[in-house]
Amino acid sequence: MRVKIILACTECKQRNYSNMKNKRTNPDRMEINKYCRFCDKHTLHRETR
Ligand SMILES: [Zn+2]
Repeated sequence: MRVKIILACTECKQRNYSNMKNKRTNPDRMEINKYCRFCDKHTLHRETR
């Protein structure tokens, strides 16, 4: 049930993180506040494919 996802910054659209998530506990698109080195601040990162 574990799938690989990519987290992209919602402000600059850079793909900063790759991650694993459990599809059973997180069936929806994940949104996490993380540090973006392109924006040089914490921004909302969204799961992409
Ligand atoms: Zn960014």
